[in-house]
Amino acid sequence: MRKIFLEEFDMPTHWYNILADLPFQLEPPLDPETNQPMSPGKLKAIFPESLLEQEMSTERWIEIPPEVKDIYAIWRPTPLIRAVNLEEYLGTPAKIFYKYEGISPAGSHKPNTAVAQAYYNAKEGIKKLTTETGAGQWGSSLAFACQYFGIEPLVFMVKVSYEQKPYRRILMETWGGKVIPSPSPYTKVGKKILEEDPDNPGSLGIAISEAIEKALEDPDTNYSLGSVLNHVLLHQTVIGLEAKKQMAKIKHYPDVVIASAGGGSNFAGLAFPFLMDNLEGSKCTKFIAVEPASCPSLTQGEYRYDFGDTAGLTPLMKMYTLGHDFVPPSIHAGGLRYHGMSPIVSGLYKEGLINAVSVPQTAVFKAAVDFARTEGIVPAPESAHSVKAAIDEALKCKETGESKVILFNLSGHGLLDLSAYQQYLEGKLQD
Ligand SMILES: *Cc1c(COP(=O)(O)O)cnc(C)c1O
Repeated sequence: MRKIFLEEFDMPTHWYNILADLPFQLEPPLDPETNQPMSPGKLKAIFPESLLEQEMSTERWIEIPPEVKDIYAIWRPTPLIRAVNLEEYLGTPAKIFYKYEGISPAGSHKPNTAVAQAYYNAKEGIKKLTTETGAGQWGSSLAFACQYFGIEPLVFMVKVSYEQKPYRRILMETWGGKVIPSPSPYTKVGKKILEEDPDNPGSLGIAISEAIEKALEDPDTNYSLGSVLNHVLLHQTVIGLEAKKQMAKIKHYPDVVIASAGGGSNFAGLAFPFLMDNLEGSKCTKFIAVEPASCPSLTQGEYRYDFGDTAGLTPLMKMYTLGHDFVPPSIHAGGLRYHGMSPIVSGLYKEGLINAVSVPQTAVFKAAVDFARTEGIVPAPESAHSVKAAIDEALKCKETGESKVILFNLSGHGLLDLSAYQQYLEGKLQD
């Protein structure tokens, strides 16, 4: 069977909260003013109470509200596909499966949390949500989600992407989003940066600072983050829970689970429902988070407290970080250009419960083109990182003759990233 479907009624009813099962103590976020654990009261200025509760909850299963499931049903359940042609092309005895999140309206896994976040904010009377976006994957997902709940999205988009990658901006505007190039003259942070350097190209860290500043100003406005935080990882577990049912349907279980990691939610989404079995002691699956060689927070970063943004407006989080003032080189996998890593994913890595690898850009695009030419789907550059790691694992199996089951997350399609493919095909892409 090449493609494993689930019926709509087989969709998970609950998200999986790994905080219930962690075999170690997660260090709390700190208030930078006092260096004491952050009081939830302060965070209420920018997040709804229901999401703050989820952020700290240790309940294992959290119900997916019917209003959220109803919108998930536009594209969920997503298919699980066996990469038969890729296996044949590689000549590997391994079985390669991928969960395809690119069929969502925004083209990636990000709407899984965007819809949930818009829902909880609307329920608590919020009228406007601010956020940041790099190449536009997250901003477009939030704009898509907000339209269903009468919320106005205000998206600070990294200026260089705003200018060079107009299509996702147009997508955001089509869904009713307001998009502002960052750094902008509309915030104190932005103004200060522009005074010092009018040509500043912007970064995710700067855009986060601007979005938070705007949300702090107005009680009807909240802020929304597309990765890193515990509640974001929680919402993404719908991916792994579906994949688990799909694998069970064909009586398989993965030996290796692979996903790319920017802030960690995409990896967590696929991995945590399987990792639950490792933590319980019933399985010993290998987990691999894949990051770009140019922004290697897990494999090269330091495990310490750091800010989530450039200006230092966020709480301090204990995580693997390259430093909050790190400006990653402008690689094409915009969604993986983040200096830090989710505290939960960081903790799991620190404890040796998951693995990480970093891969260079040209090798990633080679894998992406091989995938497009065998399986047909053109992967998002971010997703191509997991394709590359899956191919490497499959080639190892070829050497050893093992027929392992490999599962990876094809987190998005690359149809709005074709200029990157053009550069690769013309031989202009560098590491
Ligand atoms: C944002 C993005 C990622 C990275 O997700 P994180 O949750 O930040 O790790 C991966 N793939 C695609 C297609 C993305 O848009």
